[in-house]
Amino acid sequence: MTSPQRICAGLVKEALEDAHRGLRGLAVPGRHGRPATYIPELGRADPRRFGLAVMTLDGNLHQAGDALVPFTIQSVSKPFVYALTLADLGVEETLNRIGVEPTGAAFNAVRPQSARPGNPMVNAGAIVASSLVAGASGDERFGRIAACLSAFAGRDLVLDEQVLRSERSTADHNRALAHLMRASGVLERPAEEALEVYFRQCSLLVTAGDLAVMTATLANEGINPLTGQKIVSPEVTEIVLSVMATCGTYDYAGEWMLRAGLPAKSGVSGGLAAAAPGRLGIGVFSPLLDERGNSVRGLAACEQLSRRLGLHVMRP
Ligand code: GLN
Repeated sequence: MTSPQRICAGLVKEALEDAHRGLRGLAVPGRHGRPATYIPELGRADPRRFGLAVMTLDGNLHQAGDALVPFTIQSVSKPFVYALTLADLGVEETLNRIGVEPTGAAFNAVRPQSARPGNPMVNAGAIVASSLVAGASGDERFGRIAACLSAFAGRDLVLDEQVLRSERSTADHNRALAHLMRASGVLERPAEEALEVYFRQCSLLVTAGDLAVMTATLANEGINPLTGQKIVSPEVTEIVLSVMATCGTYDYAGEWMLRAGLPAKSGVSGGLAAAAPGRLGIGVFSPLLDERGNSVRGLAACEQLSRRLGLHVMRP
């Protein structure tokens, strides 16, 4: 294992507080993004909410603003479930089932479903990934997913039943995706069973602080810096971080890589999680999204922190 690079706690704290102060005002719906409304319950989010957290690999958690306010993890669950799929199924078998190429398309894109899904960070690939997690039933698979994400966070994560019901009752688009994949044989489990596991994983409640711990665990070769527990292997975190870097912010992934230079994953409730390998994890919560479904202040905050702390992975 590589020894983590030390980052001065005072510097992190200052950068975090400056980013929070500087971006706090970007909270006007319509001008600074919009909350997701296709899951009706998410449309009720308070646009002023803004939480920022950084966990360094020595286990120090720095937080600003609403870093302890819970929200549903949504697509930020995808890299962590993908990690579990890789651990359960092995690397080659997982790559056979789910591609790792950026799609350049929206997160919920419907593409010809005859081949494997483009990557595990878009809905099609994520639904397949959670269906491949070991377990005899949907309930068992979800139980293992919840346990794994909780281990990444270092505490027991619980479901938001209201958001779960809201997504389940308005999920025609994801239903269509899953049924197409089932029809073509890409999805080996019954579509409704796979969807239920996926909806539940998306409805787990986290905070920006949790996302910082979870990404710090990825940045720390799979060992949770808070609990010391080994969650996955360095081989798995290397793959997950690579796919986050190339596919984690959907059709913004290319520009994101040159601007922030960090593996990251966004979600429609306004979560954004980014990892600086060997250094730290970042968690952001801010519900207003841009047209690609990425948190506006989430992207801006990570980009600022990356520049300020010199985290860009392409910079020696
Ligand atoms: N549960 C959401 C969906 O499948 C997650 C999407 C996202 O966060 N981008 O539509």
